[in-house]
Amino acid sequence: MKSVEAPRPRSRSPGDCVGRSPVRTLFAVAAVLGACAPPITVPDAPLVARTERAAREVELCVLTQEAYARPLWQGVAQATGDSWTYAIASIAVKHPAGLLIIDPAFGRSIGDDLHRAGPFAMSLFGTEQTKTPLVKVLEQARLDPADVRYAVVTHAHWDHTGALGDLPNARVLIARSELAWVAPFTRYFDHGVMPHHLKRAKDRLFAFDFKGPPIDGFEASFDVFGDGAVIAVPMPGHTPGSTAFLVRGSGGITWLFSGDTTWTSRGVELPAHKFLRAVDVDLPVLSSSIGRLNALLLHRSDVKVVPAHDGAALSGLPQCGSP
Ligand SMILES: [Zn+2]
Repeated sequence: MKSVEAPRPRSRSPGDCVGRSPVRTLFAVAAVLGACAPPITVPDAPLVARTERAAREVELCVLTQEAYARPLWQGVAQATGDSWTYAIASIAVKHPAGLLIIDPAFGRSIGDDLHRAGPFAMSLFGTEQTKTPLVKVLEQARLDPADVRYAVVTHAHWDHTGALGDLPNARVLIARSELAWVAPFTRYFDHGVMPHHLKRAKDRLFAFDFKGPPIDGFEASFDVFGDGAVIAVPMPGHTPGSTAFLVRGSGGITWLFSGDTTWTSRGVELPAHKFLRAVDVDLPVLSSSIGRLNALLLHRSDVKVVPAHDGAALSGLPQCGSP
């Protein structure tokens, strides 16, 4: 095991995780909004060794619903002047059993969702003007929303579930631990979740457990189609039931859709937590998940990690509807 300090100021005392340097003022804000990040431990190579398995290769593509440039420091706890292409997108997986969508992001009701969530939410997320509902992006890519037979979510936050109600023929698969986390939520916008998104699909909702064998160093798995094409693995921390999806693409490449474990590829590379850590439910557990992603990056060239909101990482995949 290699222990990596998350990139944060060194000077710490009770009640002060950020030091005194003016350069670190931004981190002071993060500390107020969130919490000091625990160190990230990176597993050694054997822990992320490839699990040999027969797996069906599938085509996949990206359905971008929002993208714009932001300063990278807003996405990762690093004092940097670099830019970040912030994106909200879904992934379409073309499986013989039917079209599967990972993280159906914005529903037709995105405008209503934002307005009813209130002015604070809108100050953070903006308005519907910059956002395109998933069904519209599907149609632009000449894909019929009625043909979507499966939907899976990396976690239950509002920007990963908004279109569940717009996919009437989709079985919705979600980790049982995530469903248990959201069960007590009753407010319109509660802990980052809009419970009505899941309620709209309640008759099509199926909870799964990670009862499958260890794979690629993950201690357990759930094989969505039973053929190795799409495998869910636990990626807890951002939320209790956060899930990553290993998708076997062509040419021996496995794509790992890691949800909001980090918002950026930089967070995987450093490794580092987000700037805004108040959005994360369990920081020590999240540290372990981020460390695992970093180890995959170091030791598994056949695995491409794609954080949900990193536009540059998403651009490494085909875009749905593009020739
Ligand atoms: Zn998100």
